[in-house]
Amino acid sequence: MKRKRIPIAPIKGRLYFAFFMFVITLTILGGRVYYWKTVKGAEYESRAKEQQINSYDVMVQANRGSIVDRNNQPFAVSTVVYNVILDSRVLSLKNAREDYRTTQQNKTFAALQEVFPDLDYDELRHGVQINPETGNPYTDNSWKVLAKKVDKDVKEALEEQDLIGVYFEQDTKRTYPLKTLACHVIGFIRGDSKSGIESYYDKYMTGTPGRSFIAYDGNSTAMRQEYDPKDGDTVVTTIDYTIQQYAEDIVKETAEQWPADAVGIIVMNPNTGEIYAMADSNAFDLNQPDEVLAMSDEEFKETWDAMTEEEKLDYKYNMWKNFNVSSTYEPGSIFKPITVAAALEEGIITPQDTFFCSGSVEMYDEIMRCHLRSGHNTLDVQGALAQSCNPAMIYISQKMGKETLYRYKKNFGFGDKTGIDLPAEENGILYGEDAIGPIELATISFGQGFNTTSIQAVTAFSAVINGGNLMKPYIVSQVVDKQGNIVYENKPEIRNRVISRETSDLMRIMMKATIEEGTGKKAKIEGYSIGGKTGTAQNGSRKVQDKWALSCLTYFPVENPQYVVLAVIFRPEDYQDGKQTPVPMTKKMMEDIIKYKNIQPSYAEDGTAITKKQGTVTVDDYTNSDIFSTLLSLDSKNLNYRTVGTGNIVVNQFPHGGTQVEEGSQITLYVEKGEDDEGTMPVPDVRGKNYSEAVTLLNDSGFEVKTENEKTDGVVLSQSPKYGVSVELGTEITLTMGEQQKEEENTSNE
Ligand SMILES: [Zn+2]
Repeated sequence: MKRKRIPIAPIKGRLYFAFFMFVITLTILGGRVYYWKTVKGAEYESRAKEQQINSYDVMVQANRGSIVDRNNQPFAVSTVVYNVILDSRVLSLKNAREDYRTTQQNKTFAALQEVFPDLDYDELRHGVQINPETGNPYTDNSWKVLAKKVDKDVKEALEEQDLIGVYFEQDTKRTYPLKTLACHVIGFIRGDSKSGIESYYDKYMTGTPGRSFIAYDGNSTAMRQEYDPKDGDTVVTTIDYTIQQYAEDIVKETAEQWPADAVGIIVMNPNTGEIYAMADSNAFDLNQPDEVLAMSDEEFKETWDAMTEEEKLDYKYNMWKNFNVSSTYEPGSIFKPITVAAALEEGIITPQDTFFCSGSVEMYDEIMRCHLRSGHNTLDVQGALAQSCNPAMIYISQKMGKETLYRYKKNFGFGDKTGIDLPAEENGILYGEDAIGPIELATISFGQGFNTTSIQAVTAFSAVINGGNLMKPYIVSQVVDKQGNIVYENKPEIRNRVISRETSDLMRIMMKATIEEGTGKKAKIEGYSIGGKTGTAQNGSRKVQDKWALSCLTYFPVENPQYVVLAVIFRPEDYQDGKQTPVPMTKKMMEDIIKYKNIQPSYAEDGTAITKKQGTVTVDDYTNSDIFSTLLSLDSKNLNYRTVGTGNIVVNQFPHGGTQVEEGSQITLYVEKGEDDEGTMPVPDVRGKNYSEAVTLLNDSGFEVKTENEKTDGVVLSQSPKYGVSVELGTEITLTMGEQQKEEENTSNE
């Protein structure tokens, strides 16, 4: 912490008027401090110390750290603002000559009235008059806040006028430039309570406040001392702003079409647990979290006006609640892949086994029905998943027994928090193992009789298709300080190995049939290999209508899943079997991602594989390589990259060396500082930005900018050195500008 010592020397010589005592005018933080030392004796000075100077001791608020998306798009930013303070004691000028006092008071109030016309000036003026009974001003107060959080230009305009008795206190103001976007994830601050990332990562963003005060050196000289505030760190999320935007459009449309308690989507990387998007239809504006957006609707307003205060509050809590981590529901059929994976892993069934479904199973006087009342007849394992057949699951679970199914359910994380870095995560509710009888065992096998959160469900499902790793999902990748140092970092973390790679591979390939020919046909995108599982065809033992949660999970591409999408319609109003469905939501989500990432189809419309010779490539192992040679190698393989961390040595990568990936895939490189990296900073990614945005970002980060051919039109197509590479501050970054390529014609496949 820096400690500034600004000696305030006594001013000798000419004064325009006589002082009986002295006047102190301070302009806090303007850097200017005036101090007229009394020409009278020490008596006055000590009185002054007690009465006035000692009252000057202010905290200087640190600027709160930003929250940004994975590409540096700001979600939450803080700006420096000022509180305007009136010191009535100083402005009372009680020891000054009357004409001077009147002139100065008029000047101060006139200037304030220009800017803040709504204040009660009669009262303020009265407050600075001297009460003859006490000999002090009526408002005997040196710290009255006149206005809060005014912008810098307002402060500067007032400051220029050298007003007596007016001070400025530095404060900070939080704004959310994208308003409703990712509102449940980002969270907001209201007084002492915080939600979302604002709460979970609060300690990194708060920074350390500074302090400004007057102290005495020896017995004569007043010293202003300042401890500068330390600004908070920036929180970098794993959210992709574009994917989040798409997800929000989809939940909004669905909620308009089929009103429900909540409509949610999670988009995750199934291999790492990184969340790309987490959306919820109950949106609110982070800048005005108290405002109910539906109020613009006349019909809703009538409903609202009829609510009790308690109901209104409940409504708001529900609106602020992050559905995807804080609400629980019965998973239903999206649990069936867990049942099947467990049975395959334990060798209880083989993929070739067949099951017969007559439409129902009778157990202990209870009839359990399949959603297809006429029955599916004979199905193999793949068919049982694709058709979401209940009797097949009952058969498998009875053969497996409750101990095994219960163990797998726990291993896949049901009933436990995932540990995602967001507040208010719910556990979900499980039966105790002792409470499981044959009927319960049957209902568990198709996902009933226990509760899950969406984040639990998508994490468990990811373990089925990613090689068997139950990951810890996360929404923040890094916390970075002003100098670019990583203060905190989340890396992919395996919580549990739940099934073998062989079982996972089988499951991944089998669930393609669900989308190709099963219950998830509405999620099929011609030319692309997508797998998944629906949870929409519910039936049977369900008795409580309001438990309905319709869900669909899809992943893409089947060969090497990079995206998993969970869409949920929670407690739809007026539910009609088969009408409301989340399946088209996952389709739209995948289509948007395919378009955004410009991913080429791998199948022709007649279903034959497109044999592009350079369709897939094998990723090398770059561990311990320097980043410069790594990027050259990735370029030669037509692979994209992103870096996590600071430095030029690759310490880990995803996917790992030896993995087959499609061209154009993104490789995540975890980098650390090597010996030569001292004093270097990673170059930010400015691709896609216009010239002035790119220059601002690069300059702010400490780099110089040059453009190829001095061209500044269009957007940045490429940059050299590349982003993520750490180079010395002041290095010149060369930008190649041009027009962004139009979308490829291949994306119009429906
Ligand atoms: Zn069936």
